[in-house]
Amino acid sequence: MKNPLTEEIARLDAEHSWHPFTQMREYMAFPRLQIARGEGCRLFDTDGNAYLDANASIWTNTLGHRDPDLDAALREQLDAVAHSTMLGLSSVPSARLAGALSALTGDRLPRVFFSDCGAAAVEVAVKLSFQYWQLVGEPQRRGVVAMSDAYHGDTFGAMALGDCGAFHARFKPWFFPVDRFPAPECVECRGNVSRADASRSLAALEAILKEKSATTACVLIEPEIQGSGGMKLQPPGFVEAVSALCAKYGVHLILDEIFVGFGRTGKFLIEENRPGIDADFVCVGKGLTAGYLPLAATLTKEKIYEAFLGNFDEYKAFFHGHTFTGNPLACAVALKNIEKIRRLIASGTLAETIDCLGKRTEEAFRGHPHVREIRQRGMVAAIDLFAGEGKPAWPVGARVGMNICMRARERGLLLRPLVDTLVFIPPLVISREEIDFLVENTRAAVDDYLKTLKG
Ligand SMILES: *Cc1c(COP(=O)(O)O)cnc(C)c1O
Repeated sequence: MKNPLTEEIARLDAEHSWHPFTQMREYMAFPRLQIARGEGCRLFDTDGNAYLDANASIWTNTLGHRDPDLDAALREQLDAVAHSTMLGLSSVPSARLAGALSALTGDRLPRVFFSDCGAAAVEVAVKLSFQYWQLVGEPQRRGVVAMSDAYHGDTFGAMALGDCGAFHARFKPWFFPVDRFPAPECVECRGNVSRADASRSLAALEAILKEKSATTACVLIEPEIQGSGGMKLQPPGFVEAVSALCAKYGVHLILDEIFVGFGRTGKFLIEENRPGIDADFVCVGKGLTAGYLPLAATLTKEKIYEAFLGNFDEYKAFFHGHTFTGNPLACAVALKNIEKIRRLIASGTLAETIDCLGKRTEEAFRGHPHVREIRQRGMVAAIDLFAGEGKPAWPVGARVGMNICMRARERGLLLRPLVDTLVFIPPLVISREEIDFLVENTRAAVDDYLKTLKG
């Protein structure tokens, strides 16, 4: 017997919602789930069933749902003001957050431009780079270099910068040109690198820059881990090598840290304590507000900022903005998030959780006949499934990864695959018991489902 709330929400969803990245016919055919509330690492449906939020609500949640300190920070800001614009005004939380973000870079990137989603933060970085070169008298620098399998968001500029095959193929005729170099390869789990090769990737990047540096504005990468492209890792030292090439050829380096920032790899930002990385722009989003509210930011150097200064009628200003830029509620919760992640890192708790996630994932899946490869770095683990040695590949339409995640849901787990790659991207505060629950039930869901394929 269904409860009335479940029925109401299921009906409204079926009749009116259009979900992102979703074949709606498939969505309607699978059992559907309506979330009513959250607590810690768990979400509860309208019938009161609990699910472990094993993808951190699409890679955003850092400290769990309804964290008392985050909730209090949000309520406190609500008692002050919910929104005021940054067009010509500042606000208490937006100024404080700009300062806090600058501090995370050791004040190397002291200028913060807020936006409200990752795609916008990336487009802001690229537009700033383009305009900078115009302002310093090198307008011919219009080119962008980006990596294969990149994902930077779904607006037009972000799609053009990405390399997401079927996701964005339909819109290709409207993209601006981008020079692309291949991503490096790296297989790593618990800090042990079993295979790594950056040579082809770096040689290709250098070849592009050698030929085109005079007309190139910037190089854009997702450092350390390419998320949506399949949780592809980069070998240690790769980001430093890209940074060195950008410096050698005098082009900007943009780091899209929207996925990897805010504790996901065990630290706040990739360049933390890594003097060999000299980014001109860093984009953050997702975990910035602990997964509470939409907010993103583009951080840059004082030198870039200064190039935009002039009299109004020189039209050097950066004419770009979003209505909810620097929203005070989002900034207030982001400030508290930074404070709490700092403690999580300093206490060593996050490093222990990361090791536990890698260890338990490896124990549960190493040697499984349908596991081609396991990768883990930070609070990210990926398990590539395949039909088995010498067997024909599963057709895309078989939706093996998605079907396994649906089995996992019956076991109280919320997972979302990348094709046939299962990914664990839980909140940073997941407990050991919850990690056990995650890997054991995922393993059982894999075996349950693959048994039905053999039959
Ligand atoms: C999610 C993501 C984006 C896009 O962020 P939105 O907020 O969805 O626009 C950009 N880059 C990376 C690396 C991401 O993971």
